[in-house]
Amino acid sequence: MMRPTLQCPCNLNYCETVFRYDAPPPGEMRIDFGAQTYQRAYLRCALCRHWYSENPLDLSRLYDSAYVSATYGDRFRETFQRILALPPEGSDNAARVARVLQFARAKNLPSHKAPTLLDIGSGLGVFPYRMKEAGWECTVLDPDARAVEHATTVVGVRAIKGDFLTITPEQVGTFELVTFNKVLEHVLDPVRMLERATGFLRTNGWVYIELPDGEVASHHGSQREEFFIEHHHVFSAGSLNMLAERAGFLTLSVERLHEPSGKFTLCAFLAPKSLSPAAP
Ligand SMILES: [Zn+2]
Repeated sequence: MMRPTLQCPCNLNYCETVFRYDAPPPGEMRIDFGAQTYQRAYLRCALCRHWYSENPLDLSRLYDSAYVSATYGDRFRETFQRILALPPEGSDNAARVARVLQFARAKNLPSHKAPTLLDIGSGLGVFPYRMKEAGWECTVLDPDARAVEHATTVVGVRAIKGDFLTITPEQVGTFELVTFNKVLEHVLDPVRMLERATGFLRTNGWVYIELPDGEVASHHGSQREEFFIEHHHVFSAGSLNMLAERAGFLTLSVERLHEPSGKFTLCAFLAPKSLSPAAP
């Protein structure tokens, strides 16, 4: 079994099992595991309060199609339209766009050209669509061919099918902003993925991340969506900071959100340590 890692100093030595699952919680995607019995757990590090999934089930082919089908039911366009039609106060994305635009204003980007954004794991593309409306030039990267087709034809942004662990800046370009909206919890080694973002940043560029907040969600029990099977990691404010540090970033700000959808989320703006000797 592949184990999740955060290169945490505790190295899983100070973890305790907090939640055990022998059936999917309500609302979790249904995956056909064949003869394997559904059994998994979440361990929590007593030092940094990070949550590691202990999951012997085979998720290796999850993102080939099962995740996308289970999440969007092959109805990209309808789901995209439905989310776009949400009133701003009911939309996680509207608040996200407002946060990013406010941060960008404080950065005083040159006004003679459109700022550029690379969104990793774009899914439905609601975020790049709204950022495009706000005058940004958006590129999205997704491993799923249907997501890429949807981003090109419906969302109307530049879309690339690929894996962020192997794609290069020569292929994609460099950007003022790289975003990971609820992406890093899905990979076994989020440090390795986040550290690659540095190579895609322009001078004074920065990174925005959103992660599930296990510290708050755990107070509401084991059945919360933050602890669904597709998350190898669930974060604490401490482990978010450690993730950033290990990946070569300085955490500029962290915020705890209770989003309109009900999700408990940590969001943060990060600057690469190599390019930003001083925080703004
Ligand atoms: Zn730890």
